[in-house]
Amino acid sequence: MEWHGTHELPKLVEYQTEATRVRFGSGVARTTVAGEVDRFNAQRVLFISTRRDAATTNVVARQLGSRLAAMFQDVRPHVPIEVVTDVRQIAEAREVDLILAVGGGSSVGTAKAVALKTGVPVMAVPTTYAGSEMTAVWGITDRRQKTTGVDPVVQPRTVLYDPDLTLKMPRHLSAVSGLNAVAHGVEAFWAPRRNPASSALAEESLRALATGLPAIMRDPASVSARSEALMGSWLAGMAFASAGSGIHHKICHVLGGTFDLPHAETHAVVLPHVLEFQASSVPNSASRIASALGADNALTGLKRLYDDLSIRTGLRDLGLADQDLVEATSLVLDKIPASNPRPVEREGMEALLRAAWAGTSAIRMETLQ
Ligand code: NAD
Repeated sequence: MEWHGTHELPKLVEYQTEATRVRFGSGVARTTVAGEVDRFNAQRVLFISTRRDAATTNVVARQLGSRLAAMFQDVRPHVPIEVVTDVRQIAEAREVDLILAVGGGSSVGTAKAVALKTGVPVMAVPTTYAGSEMTAVWGITDRRQKTTGVDPVVQPRTVLYDPDLTLKMPRHLSAVSGLNAVAHGVEAFWAPRRNPASSALAEESLRALATGLPAIMRDPASVSARSEALMGSWLAGMAFASAGSGIHHKICHVLGGTFDLPHAETHAVVLPHVLEFQASSVPNSASRIASALGADNALTGLKRLYDDLSIRTGLRDLGLADQDLVEATSLVLDKIPASNPRPVEREGMEALLRAAWAGTSAIRMETLQ
């Protein structure tokens, strides 16, 4: 890092955005889908979602009327290559001209993977806080290896954020998915392409998430709490899209892709340990994170948020075996960006993963002072 001002930015900043149309508000998924499909001039829409969320997502599908050319509801986590092949065949056979993904990051990710192979545009209606709809990042898992890449063709051209679709999301899923968004916001401060815009978006996203998520724990059906959290996830997704993937995302990709750990839970478990590892190397960013979380210290603020959300798990609770930590360390070390603000060596990474394996209580208390 060569510039130690309030922003801790690289010497040369690059900033690029992809054009996405966003509509945000209670009811947009119920009332505006047909009009938004018109804007694509689309006649043959492929609808992607999960069967278990049909009660929520079919409200959107029904608005397509005769333009619903095909439905795929067998989305699986981490976008397995077999699923991508199946959906691509459907897209080609039905000659679809728009893909509409309604659901969490797995549904949006499946739509992106099909767009990557076919070039068909994507419209997304997210129902979790994963944030994939804001990025041009795709990910496909093939034989325990998750490959990711960036291609503007996968970036959803239109995104409808409707908090009403999230009102029935259970508390625990809301908490871990929300912490996935918090991870986007926190990591944006040290990710390779960080820039003044991504840091500003990240800070504001954390402020909204730190308000919205605890409010959801108190009242999951509150439209205002859901709106606050969804707005936070939107901004966090933009920050992540702009700043790119850093150490935290690299760790989570390995744990998800190779060890099949659940995406949002893994982000939630790993984040405090990565923040503890990084914070002293990015003091100005840490103080911006702290202020957004309403605390004097970033880690204390994050711990308080975790307490409010009742999240106290470790990677061992998610199914990672003790003996997997050595392989995980090697795989992660291969992926750490050279621009990480502090050097990452085997010993430090293994200690980080071991602490995350044991759980949040493994965070050293002196770093919270
Ligand atoms: P997910 O899409 O698998 O959803 C998690 C669970 O939530 C599922 O069981 C789903 O049925 C349920 N669900 C979804 N919406 C719901 C709602 N409103 N109410 C109740 N239940 C609901 O998981 P996710 O955490 O949303 O996304 C994870 C995936 O997204 C991973 O594959 C990850 O790699 C990808 N992702 C990609 C990016 C990117 O930029 N490319 C960013 C974030 C996440």
